[in-house]
Amino acid sequence: MLKGKRVIVTGASTGIGEQMAYHLAHMGSHILVTARTEAKLQKVVARCLELGAASARYMNGSMEDMIFAELVVKKAEELWGSLDMLILNHVGSSYFGFFNSDVGHVQKLLDINFLSYVTMTVAALPMLKKSAGSIVVVSSMAGKVGFPLLVPYSATKFALDGFFSSLRQELVMQNTNVSITLCVLGLIDTENAMKTVSGVFTSPAAPKEECALEIIKGGALRQREVYYEYTSTKFPLLIRDWVPDLLDYLIRRSYNTEKLK
Ligand code: NDP
Repeated sequence: MLKGKRVIVTGASTGIGEQMAYHLAHMGSHILVTARTEAKLQKVVARCLELGAASARYMNGSMEDMIFAELVVKKAEELWGSLDMLILNHVGSSYFGFFNSDVGHVQKLLDINFLSYVTMTVAALPMLKKSAGSIVVVSSMAGKVGFPLLVPYSATKFALDGFFSSLRQELVMQNTNVSITLCVLGLIDTENAMKTVSGVFTSPAAPKEECALEIIKGGALRQREVYYEYTSTKFPLLIRDWVPDLLDYLIRRSYNTEKLK
């Protein structure tokens, strides 16, 4: 389904985004990857070409800058004249600890994790409408339920759900054939996540390669939401609306705050 399709993947220099780029390459897509670190993106592009990508390009820059976010979409238009899938995956770095009252950090993280997603969506929608394309938004369990030690991050992920779930409703009302897939991920074994939660958050981590494939499948099949993996996402969320205090308690029990001290 993705052979020859034109896809942007943000935050693709490492982690899940990098793995998504490799899966898409294997499927023969045209790929445009983004992140800040040029040297890593060059390696990802070289590997994508080895794996069979129809074409692979990169653009490096920070998603703190909305002009850069728009330019990425413009670049896709210049390269391909159209776009089939926009995969929004990048995430700014934050701290893993009790909320430190730094409002400036919350604002910066909202720019990177939320506003740039909105900016790219606005820029890409005209092309996606013409191609009956898809938007894939990578979120988290922390975007569905409150998680301690992740207050600013969690806020940005909840914002994504609000924006994209409302926009999905409007697209349906306007008979616009653009799908929006929100991906709710549990803990995934990327290098950065493992370093961050090490010893403190004790739940098992799922493999990034399989996670990346499930996200792409969900986008290609135009699913409303992807839950990966089920035991750490879909099942706990089933009790959220009925016994929220129990879910909060179970989440707190997964933390070893002694290690944090
Ligand atoms: P990584 O930290 O491995 O990758 C983050 C990517 O974003 C990198 O390519 C990084 O590249 C890029 N990035 C960081 N800051 C910026 C910035 N300011 N501007 C542009 N790009 C930036 O993340 P993961 O692969 O672990 O996570 C991917 C997605 O999955 C995220 O949306 C995350 O919230 C979500 N998720 C991950 C979970 C996990 O356990 N791993 C759990 C739940 C959700 P560079 O530094 O070169 O800019």
